[in-house]
Amino acid sequence: MEYFINISYIVASALFIFGIKMLGSADTARRGNLTSSIGMLIAVIVTLLNRDVNDGNSLSFGLIAVGLLIGAGIGVFAAKKVQMTGMPELVALFNGFGGLASLLVGWAEFAKEGNFNNSEYPVFTAVAVVFAVLVGGITFTGSLIAYLKLSGKLGGAATVFPGQKVLNAAVFLTLLGFGVVFVVTGAAWALYLVIALSLLLGVLGVIPIGGGDMPVVISFLNSFSGIAASAAGFVILNNVLIVAGCLVGASGIILTVIMCKAMNRTLADVLFGGFGSSSSTSQEVEGEMKALTVEDAFYVLEAAQSVIFVPGYGMAVAQAQHAVKELAEILEDNGCEVRHAIHPVAGRMPGHMNVLLAEADVPYEQLCEMDDVNAIMETVDVAIVIGANDVVNPAAAEDESSPIYGMPIINVHQAKSVFALKRGQGAGFSGLVNTLFFREKTRMIYGDAKETITGLVSQFKD
Ligand code: NDP
Repeated sequence: MEYFINISYIVASALFIFGIKMLGSADTARRGNLTSSIGMLIAVIVTLLNRDVNDGNSLSFGLIAVGLLIGAGIGVFAAKKVQMTGMPELVALFNGFGGLASLLVGWAEFAKEGNFNNSEYPVFTAVAVVFAVLVGGITFTGSLIAYLKLSGKLGGAATVFPGQKVLNAAVFLTLLGFGVVFVVTGAAWALYLVIALSLLLGVLGVIPIGGGDMPVVISFLNSFSGIAASAAGFVILNNVLIVAGCLVGASGIILTVIMCKAMNRTLADVLFGGFGSSSSTSQEVEGEMKALTVEDAFYVLEAAQSVIFVPGYGMAVAQAQHAVKELAEILEDNGCEVRHAIHPVAGRMPGHMNVLLAEADVPYEQLCEMDDVNAIMETVDVAIVIGANDVVNPAAAEDESSPIYGMPIINVHQAKSVFALKRGQGAGFSGLVNTLFFREKTRMIYGDAKETITGLVSQFKD
């Protein structure tokens, strides 16, 4: 049986790895998801066959079945109900519950033994318990705060106060201290304090991170949830949990590095910088926003030789991707060169815009990286900004006092003219004023992005 279980775990791990590989391309991503899910199904079934779980006690299987039904019910309901725009929040919650599960595994292992004091428990397991509880606890509450910020239930701005870093460091060191006490003495109260302090540290760690830095936090917490799972795997000595946790932990860290690079920030800057605490929404801006009607925009586009679409979070809100594809086709038929420029942190989750444009079957060769598109921006007749804001804010390149100074942006302000499609005067996720909208060559086309684009399509068809 042992042999069969281990072989099955290897098969499951291989399916996880192939699944992740397939996620690298939009064409194979769905199959990749399915492949990894099959791996997980195998892992779950085989784990249930394990002697430790299947100890002849029918109550354990009954409880597992109840847990499975409740969990699966909530999962199916949430996944079916969530709008595409709510996906990032859901992912943040999933990360958080992954962390909570690891915390509970660590705690349960301790509870099962009753007391590590008198048992023959190896130090290794006690260390793994502390690690699973610590990382799991931070991931749980940190992700809840990220969820609240992403869903707008909590302001996106950073919350900073004097002595915050000292407090965080003190909490962390105290936590480690109690962790050592637990490993040495096995005292239950020490573990409970580790649990409480790690939950507190998750909150304290994420509240000072605001605005545009959230993409990094999300991927970092994703990585943390994997590390916590891996630690839980060491607690209960389950190989497939260790492997799956390491895969999530490693891919999350790779994503974190990519996101940091995309924002030209170091991880330390993000975690300890207090970015976004000061919002310059009250800053004085020269110029005024000039509105343009859909009809007038049509005449300009009809004559344009090259157009770049720059999608942002607003395109996801409006679900305008299919309309964008239709307009792009019409422009191409009209002899215009069309590109779609995707900023790595546009939207609310990594790859958000790629997913939407792939869903609308926008040809892959029309999707351009930020650097490639910036190199030719001055030759572009019209840059159409569809519900993007922070990722096209020139303050990032020009205003040294801006909190987003240094973050690479798509330089639409260098195009010959800019159409900005948004509903009103709303700020982006960072809460900062965008001077792009006040520039001489920018025209605002107010309204829901899908309605505006559909209006433009109708103008071309009439
Ligand atoms: P922003 O959040 O900066 O701006 C979105 C804009 O869309 C708003 O200004 C809003 O203006 C407009 N909008 C909203 N709904 C509609 C609609 N129906 N039709 C037209 N416009 C609409 O988006 P960006 O994509 O430019 O930037 C992403 C931001 O999110 C960055 O700050 C990034 O750091 C952050 N972030 C990114 C994550 C990621 O992983 N990609 C994760 C977490 C945060 P108005 O209200 O006036 O319509």
